[in-house]
Amino acid sequence: EESIVVREGMAEILANEKKVFYNPVQEFNRDLSVAVLSIFTEERKAYQKIEPSKKVAQRCSEGITILEALSATGLRSIRYAKEVPFVHQITANDISAAAVESIKKNVLHNGVGDLVTTSHEDATMVMYRHRSDRFDAVDVDPYGSPSVFLDGAVQCISEGGLLLITATDMAVLAGNSPETCHVKYGAISLKSKACHEMALRILLQHISSHAGRYGRYIQPLISISVDFYIRVFVRVYTGQIVCKGVASKLGMIYQCVGCESITTQPLSMTKSDNKYGLPAGPPVDKLCHYCGHKHHIGGPIWLGPLHDRQFVSQLLSKVDTGEFGTKKRLQGVLNVIYEELDVPLYYLLDRLMSIVKCEVPPMVTFSSALINAGYKVSISHAHKTSVKTDAPNSVIWDIVRAW
Ligand code: SAM
Repeated sequence: EESIVVREGMAEILANEKKVFYNPVQEFNRDLSVAVLSIFTEERKAYQKIEPSKKVAQRCSEGITILEALSATGLRSIRYAKEVPFVHQITANDISAAAVESIKKNVLHNGVGDLVTTSHEDATMVMYRHRSDRFDAVDVDPYGSPSVFLDGAVQCISEGGLLLITATDMAVLAGNSPETCHVKYGAISLKSKACHEMALRILLQHISSHAGRYGRYIQPLISISVDFYIRVFVRVYTGQIVCKGVASKLGMIYQCVGCESITTQPLSMTKSDNKYGLPAGPPVDKLCHYCGHKHHIGGPIWLGPLHDRQFVSQLLSKVDTGEFGTKKRLQGVLNVIYEELDVPLYYLLDRLMSIVKCEVPPMVTFSSALINAGYKVSISHAHKTSVKTDAPNSVIWDIVRAW
């Protein structure tokens, strides 16, 4: 029955780990969410000045509304109430009676009862009831897969609103069980060295397909893979024409079983790209161009941008000037993300070299070779020895073989 007192950000909560879920490792996730929401609310506030006649702007005049659909101890909601400026109302919901009791206690303890409303319901029901009376931000932070909550989430989010979605079922998303991944996320995952980014792209594809059913589409602001989970922050808008264009932002992945070369193939192409009426990429049965082996096929995955660079730069300034328990780590990860090339997936340098049985050169040497050949290169925040480049596979193999 012993509760421990936990201080995180500006919140102080009583956590009883046996009864209600509390994970100190997720402080990074909560810090990042506070920073993202702070910029989002500033943007909403500015929008009100630019477009005072728009419905969303009018409704947001007193601040934004947030649903924390799976709240556990209420820690996140309390932090949002105390640390995010321009918040009007937060609903902290959980299906477990013990959790709701703990949320109530913690809300009272932190004196945020005027901002945080406690709710004891299945998250999906809360979302469906708010299909017209929508939230400006919806945080979905479940155990495992967020899949079952997405249909409700894309409907109860206001125009241009923000979805904050966590997935912790990394084994499924990262290729250990491709069929289960297809059942849960509508995409085949692959065992790949780039599995962490693949997981992000499978989740984004999944959210996008849910949104599409209601004539809505997503814009990712930042997508991260850390520790044992992934977390994406996307804005949701309405528009049939943009929705039709989404097929060109989705694609299949072909990974050679021999040399592990990765090729992506968009599900559709814009008219100007598609002169011959066929999408690009290798046909299913074509053998690998570089080593003659077969391909594994995965997807569909999201091929569009993972991050909005301008947003990431705003986020960096926010973190630089703010107080966060995980500030150093946030700065580190965000700086890498800011430099990340907008190219799907990556290779691992040590893996590339071991395929051709050569010694691994220093990362900078390898990057310079790509840059000298006229291409761009960066790493991915998802792996420290990753090589992200716009160079075609043929150029990469030329450089690797010439070593
Ligand atoms: N967001 C919390 C944090 O940052 O500390 C952690 C949430 S915890 C991972 C997941 C919570 O979801 C649990 O408290 C569980 O009771 C709740 N839950 C599970 N299924 C639910 C459902 N269908 N509706 C609402 N809550 C649910």
